Amino acid sequence: MFKLNEDYLKLPGSYLFSNIAKKVSAYQAEHPEKEIIRLGIGDVTQPLCPAVIDALHKAVDEMASAETFHGYAPDLGYEFLRSAMAQNDFQARGCDIAADEIFISDGAKSDSANIQEIFDKNCKIAVCDPVYPVYVDSNVMAGRTGEYNFDTEVWSNVIYMPCTAENGFAPELPAEIPDLIYLCFPNNPTGATISKEKLQEWVDYANKVGAVIIYDAAYEAYISDSDVPHSVFECEGARTCAIELRSFSKNAGFTGTRLGATVIPHDLKVKTNTYDGYKDVEVHSLWARRHGTKYNGAPYIIQKAGEAVYSAEGQKQIKEQVAYYMKNASYILEGLKEAGYTVSGGKNAPYIWLRTPDNMTSWEFFDYLLDKAGVVGTPGSGFGPSGEHYFRLTAFGSYENTVKAVDRIKAL
Ligand SMILES: *Cc1c(COP(=O)(O)O)cnc(C)c1O
Repeated sequence: MFKLNEDYLKLPGSYLFSNIAKKVSAYQAEHPEKEIIRLGIGDVTQPLCPAVIDALHKAVDEMASAETFHGYAPDLGYEFLRSAMAQNDFQARGCDIAADEIFISDGAKSDSANIQEIFDKNCKIAVCDPVYPVYVDSNVMAGRTGEYNFDTEVWSNVIYMPCTAENGFAPELPAEIPDLIYLCFPNNPTGATISKEKLQEWVDYANKVGAVIIYDAAYEAYISDSDVPHSVFECEGARTCAIELRSFSKNAGFTGTRLGATVIPHDLKVKTNTYDGYKDVEVHSLWARRHGTKYNGAPYIIQKAGEAVYSAEGQKQIKEQVAYYMKNASYILEGLKEAGYTVSGGKNAPYIWLRTPDNMTSWEFFDYLLDKAGVVGTPGSGFGPSGEHYFRLTAFGSYENTVKAVDRIKAL
């Protein structure tokens, strides 16, 4: 008789977004006259910029004739996109990353979920709390996290690094030594950033203890402060301890178009038993093998659209989009401050993280905000135990709706 992968069954239900949807539709059914504004979504709302749309149209036309048709893409990505990324995202910032260290993919969600499979099953992971749920859940599915405690909502074999107001929502080096460290800055959900100096401490630590940092840079385009690093590879020594995840979703609106990349330097290697002896093996070679076996490459049309992001017009246009969202972010941040809320984030990230008033739980505040202001946000407790008593608002709505929502909150 077949058996299921029981590690999947260990996952507690992910009720966060379905609970939100249920509560909102029940509320709307009861109050059909009320206009509800959603500031809970983590999806962008602005259309793809003209430079990207032009590139998409051109690439589609190329697919219509045999001379310019493209079939299977190279597993690891087209050279034109890998080079554009290497130059613009890394070399232009002084990071020593070559095109062949960049693996093009269909997005950072898949890469952040899949990257764990090239590491040993006994590797211990460390994650921030609160956290983007994919890092933990993908390790649960792989049988790496031990048992779940439904009361404390933590896994027995995961190192949690609380990110709280006390430490400025930046994790501290863990007491127990991890093998894989997931970091995401600017952060989802807290909107917090890490200084280059602090990130350097993590890189030094990882090199010292022999851990790998998996650095999710999905929100790097939102950075405006000059001392906040855009890439982990701005730190000295990162080539021997870090992997970076990149996404076109939040900087260029590719959430529905799908494009991302993973960067693995050749210098990231570890002594391993192989059929020809005990020797240094590059992590790069395993990810290349994995891509070759399980993935047939991101579509040509989409990679051409990604290339257009790096054109002069593309850069100008996506910067305008980011500025549009960041104008929303400032409006939320300033408005909530005026209303007396304790808020953070919103400066180098499209997320505003607020402390619930009167010690309400995250869900109590969700209900309160929906009922009294018709505004939907995301309960912080859905991202981990340290998110309790916090709430996330996003800057991805329209400016008009953002203003309306904030003004309603201020009027409470
Ligand atoms: C949105 C997001 C991503 C991007 O995922 P894609 O699959 O590229 O759309 C990655 N990491 C975090 C933390 C995110 O919030």
